[in-house]
Amino acid sequence: MNDASPNTKPTFRRYQNGDTMWNWTDLTGKIFQADKTYKCPTYVHRAPPCQGGCPSGHDIRGWLSIARGMDKPPAPGMTWQEYAFQRMVAANPFPATMGRVCPAPCEDGCNRNEVDDFVGINAVEQYVGDWAIENKTALPAPPALDGKRVAVIGGGPAGLSAAYFLRLKGHSVTIFESHEKLGGMMRFGIPGYRTPRDMLDAEIGRILAIEGIEARTGVRVGKDVTIEQLDAEFAAIFWAIGAQKGRPLPVPGADAENCITGVEFLDAFNRGWVFSTAKKIVVVGGGDTSIDVASVARRLGHITSAHAHDAPAASTHGYTAHDVTDALRKEGAELVLTSLFPIEKMTAAEHEREDAKREGVDIQGGVMPLEVVKDENGRARALRMCQCTMKGMVPTPIDGTEYEIECDMVISAIGQMADLADGLEALDGGRSAIAIDAVYKVRKMDKHFAGGDVVRPHLLTTAIGHGRIAAETMDHFLAGTPEDKRPKIDVHQFNLLEELHARHLDPSPYDHTQTRGTSAGKFAIHNYEDRGATQIIPHRDLFKGHFNFVERSKRDARLVEADKVLGDFGERIIPLTEAQAKKEGERCMSCGMCFECDNCVIYCPQTAVSRVPKKERAVGRYVQTDYSKCIGCHICMDVCPTGYIQMGLGE
Ligand SMILES: Cc1cc2nc3c(=O)[nH]c(=O)nc-3n(C[C@H](O)[C@H](O)[C@H](O)COP(=O)(O)OP(=O)(O)OC[C@H]3O[C@@H](n4cnc5c(N)ncnc54)[C@H](O)[C@@H]3O)c2cc1C
Ligand code: SF4
Ligand code: SF4
Repeated sequence: MNDASPNTKPTFRRYQNGDTMWNWTDLTGKIFQADKTYKCPTYVHRAPPCQGGCPSGHDIRGWLSIARGMDKPPAPGMTWQEYAFQRMVAANPFPATMGRVCPAPCEDGCNRNEVDDFVGINAVEQYVGDWAIENKTALPAPPALDGKRVAVIGGGPAGLSAAYFLRLKGHSVTIFESHEKLGGMMRFGIPGYRTPRDMLDAEIGRILAIEGIEARTGVRVGKDVTIEQLDAEFAAIFWAIGAQKGRPLPVPGADAENCITGVEFLDAFNRGWVFSTAKKIVVVGGGDTSIDVASVARRLGHITSAHAHDAPAASTHGYTAHDVTDALRKEGAELVLTSLFPIEKMTAAEHEREDAKREGVDIQGGVMPLEVVKDENGRARALRMCQCTMKGMVPTPIDGTEYEIECDMVISAIGQMADLADGLEALDGGRSAIAIDAVYKVRKMDKHFAGGDVVRPHLLTTAIGHGRIAAETMDHFLAGTPEDKRPKIDVHQFNLLEELHARHLDPSPYDHTQTRGTSAGKFAIHNYEDRGATQIIPHRDLFKGHFNFVERSKRDARLVEADKVLGDFGERIIPLTEAQAKKEGERCMSCGMCFECDNCVIYCPQTAVSRVPKKERAVGRYVQTDYSKCIGCHICMDVCPTGYIQMGLGE
């Protein structure tokens, strides 16, 4: 939920007042003779920047064109929501989860930022994801099993994504998961008011409902099952074990019993083991995990009138670990969250920071911890801090600024690393991570692949993207045709042949007889070039003057004030309505793909451009050029809002 304020000034001009010369510097601009060139239009698909910025490679432009009603469902009776859902899960089977908690790098790159404001991509994703859950929409039916068995270690987003996409390739999958439930950090890290558990159960349940995907939970690989046993039983193994170990504070005194890590705290909370916290807590971090820790602790609060056996001193790490909630009086815990970076540069999203502040968390930016100060029993009683400046990721203390924050618990949320102890040492590629090559293969280990946080802690969408791509490379490996590199833009690509096939418009088979010219041939797709895997279309290639300023439909949020936060575990985001989701679809500028606006047909002075006959139309096949009429005036290219037309044909 990014919240940039929209532009209000026109930013779309290709030419400025007084321009008399073609202002392009490339060759296409230099071959005019009077009012003509010998270049005619060709139709070029390029990847939009939203998709290039989405680590799971979502076909965002595709499902937004479905939302706005341009791309109609191919089957009678199919709703637009179901069609959009099927498009989403072709890249990412967790739209409801993503729509809620993905920080949406896609929106940062959206070309619409250059007109007014980005398209509310993940709000639409949430709308469609929720619709699919409410309507119990199933994932696409998988092909028959091919007898090849793959083990997936870890049932978080990377593992579940890999399992789903491997199954779509025909392989059977066994997921090994050490927790009793699947979901990884979606369930045992992120609290339920951000990823509601009924939503998670539905999105995960849909994957588990597919025949040929089996989950063995409560099994820790390395300890309960060895790597050798996996090697003997499975044709390939995908490691998706995440980064389960929190980094302790690198300061003296951090070994105190009441100094814990953020992932430990959230894991215990999400397992249902923690019902209250200490009274005064300092969380050190600045990223998502630290915000979640502080926000959960504010909601849990502190027990003031405990029985002797509930006293913090008697409980694990200083917090009570059994269900006493209703019997005891609670009051809010005092929360300080510290960050090396100034507040505005913290890595947590701005709206998450603002929510935490509103909920009563005291955020201190530009400060570093120096020492955990212990009491006579060896427990932390304060965190000694000072102000600091940052050079890259390295803090420098500012002398004379030292101070203490009194506390009875310190929580370190400064990062995570993989846990490769207890039988998994062979996987350690250094820096507490598994080292992989360009196709997600574990270095020096045949038939082992890895992805997600265990190779580089990042985002849910990244882990899901790794799972999808690794499933493809594992499929090649299993077929005996291993790959050694991946496309430059490694996303779920629009494919015109698939689109034509879905609409029963496949080109006719090529009979391999000698043919002169293809203009009348039905076996070829004419004048279309697919550069989706190599080029992202920049905003300067769009005719942005076509688009009016339209305000983004923003999701509402239920704002929780500091004096009401205790015990409030309800969801905060209020989803878009169907009308709002469609309106966001209409705001998409369809960068790099025709969106059927008719500009080129209307403005061509030679009537060389016409619509493809209705019964032959599909997305990407809406207009055609009669090259015997075209004089190469460039007007169609200039007025194409989406940048789909390039003057490429001819000399
Ligand atoms: C508190 C917190 C908040 C976050 N908030 C966000 C957010 O808002 N948005 C966002 O995009 N990302 C967020 N992230 C990051 C995101 O959760 C991770 O990037 C993502 O979950 C990584 O997925 P993964 O599948 O690689 O690993 P995980 O989700 O960690 O899953 C790994 C799974 O492997 C299992 N496992 C580990 N070892 C073994 C073993 N030996 N045998 C069997 N099973 C094993 C674990 O139990 C776990 O279920 C957050 C992370 C944390 C910790
Ligand atoms: S998963 Fe994230 S980056 Fe991808 S489309 Fe959704 S919100 Fe955008
Ligand atoms: S306008 Fe549409 S296609 Fe273009 S970057 Fe934004 S969401 Fe993507």
